[in-house]
Amino acid sequence: MLNSFLLLAEAVVYFSVMVTLFRFRKRIGLGVFVCALGVMHFLETYLASVFYVALPFGMVSPGSAVLFSGKLVMLLLLYMKEDAATVRQPIYGLLLGNALMIGLVLVLRLHVIAALPDGRLPDIGFIDQMGWLMVWGTTLLFVDAILIILLYEKLGRYLRKAQFARILISVACVLTFDQAGFFTALHFVAGAPIAVFFGGWVAKMAAALTFSTMLVAYLKWFEERQIAAPRGLTDIFDTLTYRERYEALVEHVGRDGLTGLLHRGRFDSDGEAAVQVSLRTAKPLSLLIIDVDHFKSINDRFGHAEGDKVLKAVAALLGEAARAEDQVFRIGGEEFAILSSRPHPVARLFGESIRSAVKGSAATSRFELTVSAGVSSVSETTRCLADLFALADQRLYKAKSTGRDRVVGEPGGHDAAVVWTKPARI
Ligand code: GH3
Ligand code: MG
Ligand code: MG
Repeated sequence: MLNSFLLLAEAVVYFSVMVTLFRFRKRIGLGVFVCALGVMHFLETYLASVFYVALPFGMVSPGSAVLFSGKLVMLLLLYMKEDAATVRQPIYGLLLGNALMIGLVLVLRLHVIAALPDGRLPDIGFIDQMGWLMVWGTTLLFVDAILIILLYEKLGRYLRKAQFARILISVACVLTFDQAGFFTALHFVAGAPIAVFFGGWVAKMAAALTFSTMLVAYLKWFEERQIAAPRGLTDIFDTLTYRERYEALVEHVGRDGLTGLLHRGRFDSDGEAAVQVSLRTAKPLSLLIIDVDHFKSINDRFGHAEGDKVLKAVAALLGEAARAEDQVFRIGGEEFAILSSRPHPVARLFGESIRSAVKGSAATSRFELTVSAGVSSVSETTRCLADLFALADQRLYKAKSTGRDRVVGEPGGHDAAVVWTKPARI
């Protein structure tokens, strides 16, 4: 009698705390509920392998009767109120987490273990036994969880109005299936007697009844109204969360979606600022405009998606070639710009190294990809970004018209070095 009462009390405590965590999922996050479910899973397997109590109808473990049945009901609740994509996460997580545990136990066994001051040593054999039982239990749970969702969905056709019956039948059927599967393992691994099967089954049916009743009551009384997400700063983690999101947003703004490079808007604003700083401080600033040659034909021959991949590959190459202080932009479809503090001759060599890197790149070799580039630098004739841009653009045009696959850094298109001269205004 006392044992039955205690089992019921355990079920009520477990259910109440778990649904409270679930109820406040919008406020505290679903991870709290899922994590608690995972911890209970560990206790459940421990109890199921060693902790049994005698009831009039047989041997029962709170691990199986209360915690396992409860967990299945929690997964069903998660599916009912969220969706399959969400419930799949703890299902896979429990499976993989247990596999990891078994792997670690195998390594742990290799230790030379020191005894505690009172001479105690860990019962490694027991860990092994529980570990395999846990893997078997979780594999079964994996099947159970899918079965209960399928069954619940199937029954919806006939029992749409009778939610209690629908939940009870789903839970009871799957628990029966599970009891058969789990007992088989328990019998062979731990030598559990047949009384454990019947005792466990009766207890699981009682659990199905208890949990289904509580679940229907919970859904009816507590899930009707939505609890809104928090707006204020209610705990210390909020501050961290908001800062992280803010930083992610700042990082994202001004970047091109396809390549992740800085976009045209940033080029206009950052470029203008950089030109002004260069004019003021006489520090060199060069602009490279790099345009993919005959890019349209790649789109035409291989499709737009392949074209996009090529653009990403070129962007990655530019990113690798650039130094930390260079800024790399995508300023048009297949046009890129780099703002660099290199003086003009060095910037031209840099352009040359980019040109040959693209040509020799394995990622783009099957397209025989080449690029052309125009290079300009801040000098006495450039007063603003537009001047610098116009020069580089003219030179890019020159590169195109003289055969492509080349870098032009000279007004006439010759490849003579130009020495950086201090702007006249300074
Ligand atoms: P050129 O050597 O003279 O530069 O020839 P081109 O074909 O590279 O030059 P053009 O400017 O005529 O063509 C650029 C093409 O780039 C046209 C457009 O379809 C393609 N394009 C622009 N933006 C994107 C994009 O985001 N993805 C893909 N796949 N193609 C793009
Ligand atoms: Mg082009
Ligand atoms: Mg172009």
